[in-house]
Amino acid sequence: MEDKLKVKCPFCGYEMPIYFDKESKCRGVFVFCKGRKCKKKFEIIINENKVR
Ligand SMILES: [Zn+2]
Repeated sequence: MEDKLKVKCPFCGYEMPIYFDKESKCRGVFVFCKGRKCKKKFEIIINENKVR
C-alpha cells in the first residue's frame, strides 16, 4: 500500500483507513471521521476539482 494515498478528514486531519491511487476519482461518498474528538461526516472528493 506504499503507493496509495490516504483519505484525510478535512476537519481534523485524521488519516482514515481508506486508500486510493492517484488515478482514482470519487465524489458523493460520505464517511464519518474516526478521529476520537471529531466524528464529523465529510464527503470524499478525489480528483474532481482538478483540471486534467
Ligand atoms: Zn475528523
